[in-house]
Amino acid sequence: MQAFCEHKSTVVLARRDGVDYVECLECRQVFEAEDLEPVVVEDDEE
Ligand SMILES: [Zn+2]
Repeated sequence: MQAFCEHKSTVVLARRDGVDYVECLECRQVFEAEDLEPVVVEDDEE
């Protein structure tokens, strides 16, 4: 079982069509950098 990963440690694998593909060093998941950005915010207060 792997706990929720915030993908704080990432490296850029490649850039294609203006999209950066990054890999998380903690969970080894590969995803688009754009998808990562919304994950940064963790705030329940409105
Ligand atoms: Zn991760």
